[in-house]
Amino acid sequence: MLKIENLHASIEGKKILNGISLEINPGEIHAIMGPNGSGKSTLASVLAGREEYEVLEGKVTFAGQDLLEMGPEERAQAGLFLAFQYPVEIPGVSNTNFLKTAVNEVRKSRGQEPLDAVAFLKLMKEKMKVVNIDQSLMTRSLNEGFSGGEKKRNEIFQMAMLEPTLSILDETDSGLDIDALKVVANGVNTLKNDHNGFIVVTHYQRLLNYIVPDFVHVLYKGKIVKSGTKELAYELEEKGYDWIKKEIEGA
Ligand code: ADP
Ligand code: MG
Ligand code: MG
Repeated sequence: MLKIENLHASIEGKKILNGISLEINPGEIHAIMGPNGSGKSTLASVLAGREEYEVLEGKVTFAGQDLLEMGPEERAQAGLFLAFQYPVEIPGVSNTNFLKTAVNEVRKSRGQEPLDAVAFLKLMKEKMKVVNIDQSLMTRSLNEGFSGGEKKRNEIFQMAMLEPTLSILDETDSGLDIDALKVVANGVNTLKNDHNGFIVVTHYQRLLNYIVPDFVHVLYKGKIVKSGTKELAYELEEKGYDWIKKEIEGA
């Protein structure tokens, strides 16, 4: 589904990613962990197609297409979902209208008929249950004045509505509370099936108490320096990242 080969990227002339290779198949959950500043958010941003980042080398294939040649909207239409792509605040556009447009854009690109008002409402109700999101957030302007937890819940709600084939969730290091973590985990666990995949970027192991990854990768200085199963995440929780740094630098 996603194949990253020897990806190098920089921001503002600073080299951040130094040769990342990673392959994700349908039905898999991959966790990307690593110390602060190792390039986790940069990797997510490059995959999202954020313009500030320059790809210097490498190749990324998504569902058989050259991802790096696609604009951010095309990536979304092809079934890629990036959580932080949407938490922008858009005054004057209600959450509901935003989602209706987004859902129908994706349907159009899949060759499906747009949903009419009744069908859309039915889908919203069904997905609202998954995320346990408050009805009142639907009529408010997109993300405007939402609390951190509400934004996160809304983001996962968007993911549920769009039914992407690959979701990339950057949990950022800036302390999601336990309720927000559970919302993310519950969303992933409910939406996971044999046809979709998830990349969960996380600094701490605690999210992985709720989402069980199939693979765990450790990013350090812009490279994947270790890959393993969920046991690796437990080891990191117990021992921190220093032993990995020593192992790499000693080698
Ligand atoms: P992580 O998500 O693993 O904590 P990031 O991808 O956010 O790491 O950052 C990787 C490195 O890139 C850090 O050293 C950070 O300071 C640097 N960086 C991120 N954004 C910028 C920017 N806009 N300009 C210059 N350096 C940046
Ligand atoms: Mg960071
Ligand atoms: Mg980060």
